[in-house]
Amino acid sequence: MSAHILTIGYLLASVTFITGLKMLSHPETARRGNAIAAAGMALAIFATIFLYRDELTGPLAHKGLIFAALAIGTLTGILAAKKVKMTAMPEMVSLFNGMGGACAMLISIIEFNSHIYLAFDLGTGYVFTQHVSQGEIAIITIGLIIGSVSFAGSIVAWGKLNGRFRDKVFKGQRILNMLLLAILLIATGVFIYFTPALSKDYFGTIMTFTDGSFGDSGVVPGQVYMFYAILALALLYGVMFVLPIGGADMPVVISLLNSFTGVAAACGGFMYNNKAMLTGGILVGAAGTLLTILMCKAMNRSLLNVLLGAFGGGATGAAAGREQGNYKEISVADAAMVMSYAGKVMIVPGYGLAVAQAQHICHELEKLLNDKGVAVDYAIHPVAGRMPGHMNVLLAEADVAYDKLAEMEAANDMLKTTDVVLILGANDVVNPAAKSDPASPIYGMPILEVELAKTVIVNKRSMKPGYAGIENELFFRPKTSMLFGDAKKVLQELVAAIKEC
Ligand code: NDP
Repeated sequence: MSAHILTIGYLLASVTFITGLKMLSHPETARRGNAIAAAGMALAIFATIFLYRDELTGPLAHKGLIFAALAIGTLTGILAAKKVKMTAMPEMVSLFNGMGGACAMLISIIEFNSHIYLAFDLGTGYVFTQHVSQGEIAIITIGLIIGSVSFAGSIVAWGKLNGRFRDKVFKGQRILNMLLLAILLIATGVFIYFTPALSKDYFGTIMTFTDGSFGDSGVVPGQVYMFYAILALALLYGVMFVLPIGGADMPVVISLLNSFTGVAAACGGFMYNNKAMLTGGILVGAAGTLLTILMCKAMNRSLLNVLLGAFGGGATGAAAGREQGNYKEISVADAAMVMSYAGKVMIVPGYGLAVAQAQHICHELEKLLNDKGVAVDYAIHPVAGRMPGHMNVLLAEADVAYDKLAEMEAANDMLKTTDVVLILGANDVVNPAAKSDPASPIYGMPILEVELAKTVIVNKRSMKPGYAGIENELFFRPKTSMLFGDAKKVLQELVAAIKEC
């Protein structure tokens, strides 16, 4: 009976995951979607704790420990999410993604131990209990590898996003990464193939070997060592794979790591025959894969190049640190005048807008200009900010209407008829070097073609570069005027000045 209730619980949870994901695709429904999926997850967790019964071992043991872990995790999660600044959100997402990967990795380690290897070297010899099929060992190992790569990679991504780690590129890195991946795949194939596939009938049979021989069907310690060697290799690959990636490829890697965690969780679902875990994992894996494809397209990169790493890191191009000539500045009063008398203004938000937390005052500026008969839209680059969809989330927080946000292609079309472009804390996503300088680390990335508009006003605090670490020629072009200062402060002054116009 409890098994049936559990199945219904998993079904309900799966439905909430799908509904929640669907609702996440629109800012208006995203919050509710998140809450619905979280409720489904809580249902799946508590149903498992109270209703799951193993054929051989009965209900779950150690409930006290489980609840203690749940309490620690929940408290940490709530505190972290409450305390995190909007600008640190991408780091936190990376860290949480890494925790998902770590979880899948630990599940595989525990299952390997309980299925294959219960006890080792009791002084007299080796004691093994076997309870594994080839399929199970494959799922355990695949979950281990993907989870470990995702864990190690996400931790490096977290460090890079908050500036703790720098891009590390050295000669031969691509070859080394390929070699590592090849060794990892071959070792995994060998491991899965040779690990004995004993039938479940053997469960409970304890084979003691006192003379050092392990018999034909026993799991030899070599396989145990190999399992941990695969774990170490996967962790190393996770680090090596993300470490060199910089420039403009981080968004692709972040969404790829996301999809890895989903696939690793789905492996857990297979392992436990747990439908909710399987659905959840597959949804994250599929959504992450789609996002990766979209990000690759946005960055004009092939996934293979990203996977091999050592791509787009470091500012080695001609645009790196080169003196570009003179730039001109514009005062707040002049900028206010130009914008007040424009027919159409396009705002390009970037990471700096999130840093300044200027989304609300930005929305106020938009409404004020609208009142004066100026049409205002936002040009959204897919990798602006520090996480996929960052600008959409930021502007939604300030209740900017969704239909005001134009995606890159549409925005580039609209820019042709725009009078004034106001760039707020964006840099790499409007850098013409992506089109003109083959030596630039962002070369090939499609950009917002702001120079199609009549006038370009750039707000940032200094002439410092953005994430890719490169100089931006746009700032020195004749159409461009620099409006220096913190985005929030400048926007407040602009709003006040426009009211006077
Ligand atoms: P950039 O990082 O290129 O530039 C942001 C600019 O904002 C800086 O030049 C900075 O200049 C300015 N700035 C910072 N603080 C403020 C402030 N308080 N007020 C005004 N300006 C400020 O941002 P973009 O959004 O243009 O590009 C995103 C970059 O991040 C791309 O290279 C992308 O590849 C990368 N990335 C994106 C991820 C994603 O998923 N979206 C993930 C990881 C990386 P100054 O210091 O002079 O003020």
